[in-house]
Amino acid sequence: MASPVPHDNELTLYLLATGLSLLAKTDRSPKIPYPAPLQRACNRILLNAIRCQSEPPNSVAEIVIACTQEPKRVPYLAISLPESVIGLGLPLLENGLPTQLCREWSHVHADVEQYLVEERVFSEARELCRKRNDQQAYIDYRRVHIEHPVLTRSAFIKLCETRTLRPLKDCLEIAYQPIPYGHAYNDEYHLCKTCGNLLILNYTEQALQCRRPGCAGEQGDTLPADPGDERRHPLWLQTGFLESITYPGLLELQLHNELAQIPGVEVSLWPLFDAVDLQITFSDGTIWAVDIKEWGSATALALRSNNSPIPQTNWHRAFYVFRDERTINYRNEFYARWNRRPNVEAYLYSQFLAEVQNHLKGFQPDAKHR
Ligand SMILES: [Zn+2]
Repeated sequence: MASPVPHDNELTLYLLATGLSLLAKTDRSPKIPYPAPLQRACNRILLNAIRCQSEPPNSVAEIVIACTQEPKRVPYLAISLPESVIGLGLPLLENGLPTQLCREWSHVHADVEQYLVEERVFSEARELCRKRNDQQAYIDYRRVHIEHPVLTRSAFIKLCETRTLRPLKDCLEIAYQPIPYGHAYNDEYHLCKTCGNLLILNYTEQALQCRRPGCAGEQGDTLPADPGDERRHPLWLQTGFLESITYPGLLELQLHNELAQIPGVEVSLWPLFDAVDLQITFSDGTIWAVDIKEWGSATALALRSNNSPIPQTNWHRAFYVFRDERTINYRNEFYARWNRRPNVEAYLYSQFLAEVQNHLKGFQPDAKHR
C-alpha cells in the first residue's frame, strides 16, 4: 500500500520548492526573513547533512544559489531530495526564477502550511496559557517536548492528566503520534540513553543510531513494538516538533540547570510566556535576559535579530548565547552584520557562564567557579 504520508525527502522538496517560489515573489531587498517553508527546508537539509556526515551548507543563501545547479552536483542536495528528482538532472532555479520542476513540486501539496503545524500548535498553546495566566503550564508543556521525545501510551495519558497539562491535551495529542512500526528492531523500539530519542537502524552500518543529529546515541531502554495493539503502541514526537522545539530546547535546559546551581542566581525558563528563553535575577537585583540561538548562519541570524530584537522587558542586560562548537568566528560573523543595541551582547556558552561569575564577583567577592 502506498504511504499517504510523504517520505522525508519529498517533504524537504515540497518545502524547498514552495519556499523558492515564495522567495521569487518577494520584491523587497534584502529578502530576509526568508519565507518560512524555505527556512524549514534549509533546516531539514542542514540536519540531514549533519546526520549523513556530509559537508553541511553554511546559510540559506548558499542553498538558494545551489538550487541553480543540478541537485546531483551539490552533495547536501543530492542526499536530501528524492532520487526520482535527482535523476532528472534539472535545477530548481534558472536565472533566479523557479523552473517548471520547482513550480510542479510547490503545487504537489496545496497547503504546505499544514507541515508547519508545530508553529500553529505552539502559538495556540502559548495563547491558552496566557489567557489562563498560567506560566507554569507553559513551562511544563514546553519541557515535555524537550525531555520526552518518546512516551509510552500510559505515560502520555498520565502526563495529560496533570493539573497544568490537562488544558493542553489537544495540543499534545497533535504532537505525539504512534511510532511507525518500521522503526522497530527485533520487535522492539530502542531508546537513546543520552537524550531519550529513538535509535534507528542505519542500514549502511547495520547499527542503531540516535535520531537526534550529533547525538552519540547510547543504548537505553527498549519498548515492545506490537502493531496489533494500537492502545499500547508508544508515541513519538512528530519531526517538526523535534526540530523546532526539542533539539534547541536541550541547550536551553542545560544552561538553565547549570545556572540554577550557582548561589546568588535565580533563573526562570521562558518568562512572560516566552518573551526570552531565560531570565536571570542576581541577588543584587540585577536582571539579565538570555536568548539561546541555534541558527546555522550567523549572518542570517544577525539580520533576523535586527528585525526582531530581544524584547525590552525589565532586564538590565541581554545576551544572545551560541553553543561553544559554533566558535568565535561564528560570533564575529554575527557581530559584523548585527545592529548592536545598548546593553545587548552575544557570547559563546562558556564565555557567558564566565560573565555570570564576573558579575557575581562584583558583589560577592568570594564567588567561586563551581
Ligand atoms: Zn540521543
